Amino acid sequence: MAGRRPVTAGGGARAGQLAANLARVEQRIADACRSAGRDRKEVTLIVVTKTYPASDVRLLAGLGVREVAENRDQEAAAKAADTADLPLSWHFVGQLQTNKARSVVRYADHVHSVDRLRLVAALSSAATAAGRQVGCLVQVALDAEAGDRGERGGVAPDAVPALADALAAAPGLRLDGLMTVAPLAGAYAGQPRAAFDRLTEISSRLRETHPAATMVSAGMSQDLDDAVAAGATHVRVGTAVLGVRPGLR
Ligand SMILES: *Cc1c(COP(=O)(O)O)cnc(C)c1O
Repeated sequence: MAGRRPVTAGGGARAGQLAANLARVEQRIADACRSAGRDRKEVTLIVVTKTYPASDVRLLAGLGVREVAENRDQEAAAKAADTADLPLSWHFVGQLQTNKARSVVRYADHVHSVDRLRLVAALSSAATAAGRQVGCLVQVALDAEAGDRGERGGVAPDAVPALADALAAAPGLRLDGLMTVAPLAGAYAGQPRAAFDRLTEISSRLRETHPAATMVSAGMSQDLDDAVAAGATHVRVGTAVLGVRPGLR
């Protein structure tokens, strides 16, 4: 076909692999939406590119991906700088130290892992200083006891209203919704659907006072189908698109 680029070695092979993986993930999201009676447009795929190089981010952008996520500031900042020419929106999804806030607000359009008031304050002053508006999600730890924090970050459900109010009032920040990771321990261990249903409940309650906080970020490679069934608006998928990462990240 005229104008079609030949498939080349290296990037071409990787591009083909990423395209096939993306198509499979897209099919899973579409199937889950159909089963749940949801419109496919209600769910946004965020591709988690942690541990993979900027060249993969570039290939993904070429395949139509627009939302990408990282969980470590140093790696994310470098990749975002390398791909600054691409029309990408960056999501920060990892546990975040307050001293990284200044860096993160420079490239991240969304931070999914807000789980304490000190972090709200740090992100707010950093965003204001940088002249940026950053969308924030409260990370909910469904394995944490009331008043406690989760093993992998997040706050227990009882702390969500206070954090949400603080985010909504913070200059430079916007309260966009809630995020969770299916717990590996506690009452919801091995029950991602029940966990995501609980997150949806907490989200409904939150929207009574913050109607614009509509993002429900839930579901990864293993459990994105359950997340879509439960009402997630954003799924964060790494392995199923990019491959198995070396090590436990
Ligand atoms: C790594 C990561 C993901 C993606 O996980 P996969 O199992 O590779 O799809 C999603 N969310 C967070 C917070 C992550 O750290």
